[in-house]
Amino acid sequence: MSTTIAEAASAALPLTNTSLAEIAAALRRYDSFAVISHVRPDGDALGSQIAMGLALRNMGKKVRVWNEEGLLEKFSFLPGGEIVSLPPHTKEDVDVVLALDTATRQRLGTPLDSLGETRLWINIDHHASNPRYGDLVHIDPTAPATGQILFELLQSQDLPLDERIAENLFAAISTDTGSFQYPNTTARTFEIAAAILRCGIKVGRLSQQLYESYPRRRIELLRVLLDRMRFDGEGKVASFSLPLATANELGVIPEDNEGLIDHLRAIQGVIIAIFFEELADGKIRVSMRSKDERADVCAICLSFKGGGHKLAAGARVPGTLEEVEEKVIAAAVASIEAMKS
Ligand code: AMP
Ligand code: MN
Ligand code: MN
Repeated sequence: MSTTIAEAASAALPLTNTSLAEIAAALRRYDSFAVISHVRPDGDALGSQIAMGLALRNMGKKVRVWNEEGLLEKFSFLPGGEIVSLPPHTKEDVDVVLALDTATRQRLGTPLDSLGETRLWINIDHHASNPRYGDLVHIDPTAPATGQILFELLQSQDLPLDERIAENLFAAISTDTGSFQYPNTTARTFEIAAAILRCGIKVGRLSQQLYESYPRRRIELLRVLLDRMRFDGEGKVASFSLPLATANELGVIPEDNEGLIDHLRAIQGVIIAIFFEELADGKIRVSMRSKDERADVCAICLSFKGGGHKLAAGARVPGTLEEVEEKVIAAAVASIEAMKS
């Protein structure tokens, strides 16, 4: 039986996790690093990137921290945030690429084009759907945030962990757990949060910056989205959609809509919440949330070539808004139907 290149490549991917000790040894051994994370970065992506950027700088390393969107306006208060930059137009050689919180290599976006010669890829993530790309791979789907894995790495391996690093890790963990509410929040998560508070961070001030400082245009957007809200599957599937023209009229920027899907999930009786966003490239960004593990939105998104977690997943689907809405809502309704049997 012949083996395709893709099969051979996937067979070569490491199946077991590289220990945190081995990852720490690699961080110590090499000199230059590119710390990268996913497109449309969330608090876990940027908090993790900044925390590792600061830790590596403290170790005397040469560090680039690149994100396709640079540092988002709403996360500009994070201490050390200025180390995040847009990827450069020319390629740069680095010893180590450190990919954080990113379910597929492709979701690392334009920073991939800025990488010249590299020696080692390290992939640290908590998405179960991660195909384990890279040389040293540590995927822990039980961790509610990549920031939690990084706290364990820095603390257990005696790597730099100062107040600024801790504040970024807290932002990563707080945002990815829905403020310590999602079911993957563990006792360990609270222990880590407590340890971080003991470093001196001000949780009230940080939470206000994270959750009570939205620009007004975000709420104007919410007003429009609620007007477009629809229910399917006997009220168990709630969704709304944002046409590109509406986003332009409102003057909103992509980061403004993150989290608005939570208003749908918070409705009594709703099991699956879906947000559809028309992108300029002809694709529809689909964002899904579930309140019941039996309605696995990661499985639904995988069927549309996306991925994520059982209760929070996404995909980018080619087609018009109407076409993608019909297909994805039908899949969500079918998944809820299957729960009954
Ligand atoms: P979002 O709805 O964009 O907040 O994403 C929810 C979760 O799904 C996150 O953990 C993402 O990393 C993951 N995710 C979102 N979009 C994709 C995609 N196109 N491919 C793989 N994973 C995705
Ligand atoms: Mn993320
Ligand atoms: Mn995450």
